[in-house]
Amino acid sequence: MTDFAATRAAFDLPEGVVYLDGNSLGPLPQGAAERAATVLRDEWGRMLITAWNRAGWMAAPARVGARIGRLVGAAPGTITMGDTLSVKIFQALAAGLALRPGRRVVLSDSGNFPTDLYMAQGLLRMLRQGHELRIVPPEAVAGALSDEVAALLLTHVDYRTGRMHDMAGLTRAARDAGAVAIWDLAHSAGAVPVDLAGSGAEFAAGCTYKYLNGGPGAPAFIYVRPDLADTIEPALAGWLGHAAPFAFEPDYRPAPGVERMRVGTPPVLQMAVLDAALDVWDGVAMADIRARSVALSERFVAGVAAACPALTLASPPDPVARGSQVSFRHENGYAIIQALIARGVIGDFRAPDILRFGIAPLYVGTAEIDRAIDALAEVMARAAWDRPEFHARAAVT
Ligand SMILES: *Cc1c(COP(=O)(O)O)cnc(C)c1O
Repeated sequence: MTDFAATRAAFDLPEGVVYLDGNSLGPLPQGAAERAATVLRDEWGRMLITAWNRAGWMAAPARVGARIGRLVGAAPGTITMGDTLSVKIFQALAAGLALRPGRRVVLSDSGNFPTDLYMAQGLLRMLRQGHELRIVPPEAVAGALSDEVAALLLTHVDYRTGRMHDMAGLTRAARDAGAVAIWDLAHSAGAVPVDLAGSGAEFAAGCTYKYLNGGPGAPAFIYVRPDLADTIEPALAGWLGHAAPFAFEPDYRPAPGVERMRVGTPPVLQMAVLDAALDVWDGVAMADIRARSVALSERFVAGVAAACPALTLASPPDPVARGSQVSFRHENGYAIIQALIARGVIGDFRAPDILRFGIAPLYVGTAEIDRAIDALAEVMARAAWDRPEFHARAAVT
């Protein structure tokens, strides 16, 4: 059994804060500052350039990727790290389209995160081969698969509502239609159990600063199904995805396996912080995370329904169809979130009217859920949100 008292103690959270925003930026793990200091002082400072070998900097993307693999059901050697999720989506889609040269449709849904759609639009414009990005409602995805579809590009858990797609079922349906499946696991990695290998998906990618707590700017991960990893042709043919980077050959030759999806120099400091954050996950079973996430989410949904009738549940009421977040709708959602933050309960707002609360069992328990319900009830009952300072929009919501 996962020891959640121990995982809670592994985070450096400010006193008195209830943090329900780990779906956007996970909190600081206790070990992260010390690890960053070690890399700065002992590795960069003392070893200088020899640290690329002696401190294992160059091998870190594969090593850290294997640690993430355990949490998303991917074998060692099938994930590498680097860049941001937007870039990894671009790489996965480019490789996916090249696997289906006779087809011209990329299928996605209207719940997808904008950057995924923007990256697809930019890639398709650049290809100039007449591809179309077809966006359908989430419920219509399965029915929209056809022999025109080259790639199915979906985010597993909707960033606004927490609605979760049936990854195994849709991947199977994509395969039956002859399309490749590309999954964005931004709100899945560390949030819900994922069986990447079992799903048969061709590609997946995710970020590590949300539920994995790797810190702002932490590198993304990308997965390639192992039987394809030696044949796909990287669109971003960077030198560190080359078979022999230090041979400095004039022509690109892809590295074996998923390592070819590396591009340039890895973000060593961010990778070290992420590595320290992953220590918290040692001994944590995703099944325990899921059980606790569902129990806490159900408590939150029931408590808010009883205390705040003006808030409408925007997430699926059935926890089986939900990731690890709960969202509500209210026309004054932004101000309500600001009033909550002023009371030490941190959630966030997504336009136009969504109040989002991430439930991260590593550091959230029943006491935090109950405090959040009480604060929300108080803010709603007295319309405490209706003050000028709570209506003023900041740049980042
Ligand atoms: C958070 C998120 C991103 C962010 O992409 P970055 O390149 O890391 O900024 C992309 N896709 C989804 C679905 C997300 O939730």
